[in-house]
Amino acid sequence: MKLYNSMTRKKEEFVPIEPGKVKMYSCGPTVYNFFHIGNARPFIIFDTLRRYFEYRGYDVQFVQNFTDIDDKVINKANAEGVTYDVIADRYIKEYFTDAKGLGIRPATVHPRATETMDAIIDIVKKLVDNGHAYAAPNGDVYFRTKSFAEYGKLSHQPLDELQAGARISVGELKEDPMDFAVWKAAKPGEPSWESPWGQGRPGWHIECSAMVNKYLGKTIDIHSGGKDLIFPHHENEIAQSECANGCTFANYWLHNGFLTIDNEKMSKSKGNFFMVREAAEVYGYETIRMFMLSAQYRSPLNYSEESLMMAKQSLARLYTAAENLQFLLDHQTGDVMTETEQAKAASFDQYRQKFIDAMDDDLNTADALAAVFELVREINTAVKDPNCTHAFVQTCFDRMMELCGVLGLVDHLEKKTIDSEIEDLIAQRTAAKKAKNFAEADRIRDYLLNEKGIIIKDTRQGTQWSYKES
Ligand code: AMP
Ligand code: ZN
Repeated sequence: MKLYNSMTRKKEEFVPIEPGKVKMYSCGPTVYNFFHIGNARPFIIFDTLRRYFEYRGYDVQFVQNFTDIDDKVINKANAEGVTYDVIADRYIKEYFTDAKGLGIRPATVHPRATETMDAIIDIVKKLVDNGHAYAAPNGDVYFRTKSFAEYGKLSHQPLDELQAGARISVGELKEDPMDFAVWKAAKPGEPSWESPWGQGRPGWHIECSAMVNKYLGKTIDIHSGGKDLIFPHHENEIAQSECANGCTFANYWLHNGFLTIDNEKMSKSKGNFFMVREAAEVYGYETIRMFMLSAQYRSPLNYSEESLMMAKQSLARLYTAAENLQFLLDHQTGDVMTETEQAKAASFDQYRQKFIDAMDDDLNTADALAAVFELVREINTAVKDPNCTHAFVQTCFDRMMELCGVLGLVDHLEKKTIDSEIEDLIAQRTAAKKAKNFAEADRIRDYLLNEKGIIIKDTRQGTQWSYKES
């Protein structure tokens, strides 16, 4: 598999540190609000990468943090007159609600900054001891940026260029404008933790360095996040980790492009954002996932009603195909495929191969989806044969669901279980139609739609039903 590495600015063959294993870390949300569609992009993309690695047989350890203490969390807590942990607990819970809807599986570990204090203090201590960091008289601890000769290697900015933009803000006791805080002395009324430098709390970047050490080790395979994190966040993580451990921090750096709206980056500070929660009410969660996967993750992706409606239609095509196959599985017989069916089934290999080639090419989910749609088109045509065997339908279903599963799509099919009450009503309606009692047939159809949320469709294979999308 090839992955574009922001460090080398090249697509590189992925070679794991340990054969068959992947250690991945992705920067997670700051939990002071619901997350917006822009934030959803890395969460969905790196979940898909993890699923794909698993599909290819890797054992994946995936860590994504929650930043549960920072100025934004504290400000929100103050505004509501509650403690910071009330805010953090609430939005961590909300994160999991949205993530579940979007088909984002829980990471192997979701560490919180406040639960990683020992590891954070440990790494700060190491940096102070080896001279890469220093404590200021007020209890702040700063990283001595110029002590790390490779600083700037990820963002490809030479130190002197970065220096031009650096400032010392009021109240900061830095030796040099380039230095950044790894530990901040407590301010009155703010939550704080005990440390060798007095009461305080971690700087922004240090939690990720500490969590990687604690849960994955000194060197990991992949570190990821949105491209806005390259500088300063990831640059600083590298400086801290490599100076503390004396070895490479991450072998591959993956960064997703921006989700835009009117071609501008969606962000909380600009106010041009939609919460995932709001958009899900309009389009459904899974549509948002389909929309995200419709573009390769490094290209910009523009959020618009039109593109969401397109994603919704694409998703509906997959569901219709899968539901049709489910229906046929209940009705077709024959455990052995005919020769023609066997040949057809074998020809489906090419779409799996196309899918794999696309995903292997720096996770090109757009092309991978195109392969899925080609497969689905072939399947739709193949199962039109009224004599097709159950065995063939099963193969079609499995082939399709195999690829959809890697993308985390068509994940809610299990809702469509054969419900005996519904089956009875459909049978009664069919009987009514046969008896030309159309009023009764319509009454049953309307009842199913309005009371049960079920849509009836008459097809060549008989009457089919699906849940109305809420
Ligand atoms: P935050 O909670 O703001 O730290 O962001 C969480 C994740 O969302 C990070 O990986 C950011 O890089 C990413 N992110 C924020 N805004 C966007 C956007 N408009 N497009 C893509 N990724 C974004
Ligand atoms: Zn981070």
